[in-house]
Amino acid sequence: MFVHYRTKGIIFKKEDRGEADQLFTFYTKDFGKLEILGRAIRKISSKLRSGAELFYLSEIEFIQGKTHKTLTDAISIEKFRNLRKSLKRLAIAYKISGVLAKLVKFQEPDEKIWRLLNETFKNLNNSNLKSTICNLLPYYFLWNLLSILGYKAELYNCVICQKKLLPEKLYFNSKEGGLICQNCFKKVKLVEEDKSSSLPFAAARVGKEVKPDIVKILRIILEKNWLTLSKLKIEKDFLKELASVSKNYLSFIVDEAEASAA
Ligand SMILES: [Zn+2]
Repeated sequence: MFVHYRTKGIIFKKEDRGEADQLFTFYTKDFGKLEILGRAIRKISSKLRSGAELFYLSEIEFIQGKTHKTLTDAISIEKFRNLRKSLKRLAIAYKISGVLAKLVKFQEPDEKIWRLLNETFKNLNNSNLKSTICNLLPYYFLWNLLSILGYKAELYNCVICQKKLLPEKLYFNSKEGGLICQNCFKKVKLVEEDKSSSLPFAAARVGKEVKPDIVKILRIILEKNWLTLSKLKIEKDFLKELASVSKNYLSFIVDEAEASAA
């Protein structure tokens, strides 16, 4: 006899398998990330269909077989209908899923990640949320997920000399995991140039300039201060710069994790 497990989960990936099966990737409350097979779920007669769809929050039941888990029940709790109605919001949901897939590799429950994911999807589904603030959600998710995973970015003191940072020219150094002051930037740059390092990590080791406005947004994101965040005026340039510093930090961490696993 199989043991039946019940939990709640958000489906963040779905792939067709075989004739009528689908493989779902859930982030669940009690088990963390799980891949569960929906057998014959693409058949119209399938009872599971109504409860298992991409970006649904569902109550699920599954059994653990020898090689994989099989879905035995799925009841939707929240379909995030507003998210589904907008292509733009849907694209943001895919971005968030991509970040989750990149950073969370194993099955391990984490209440904080579960809450962050729920909060992010709830906000993305909020039709009153301004579209410019919606654009911040992937970054809100990314930087807070990194914090939970032990990569909380230091944004108040220089990560090298510990000096309190002023709103001036600052640099984000991915290797050190935070902002560095101009003095430290110059020193690190000299050292790295001296090594004439051509490794792909070189840029991450030296640092990338981040304007005070972006530092401000990042601080508000990490404080999880929604009220302040939703009142911000976000300009297009801000988003570009935010995307660039986020991408650099994320790829540095993913590369590091892959290098240490190899
Ligand atoms: Zn410094």
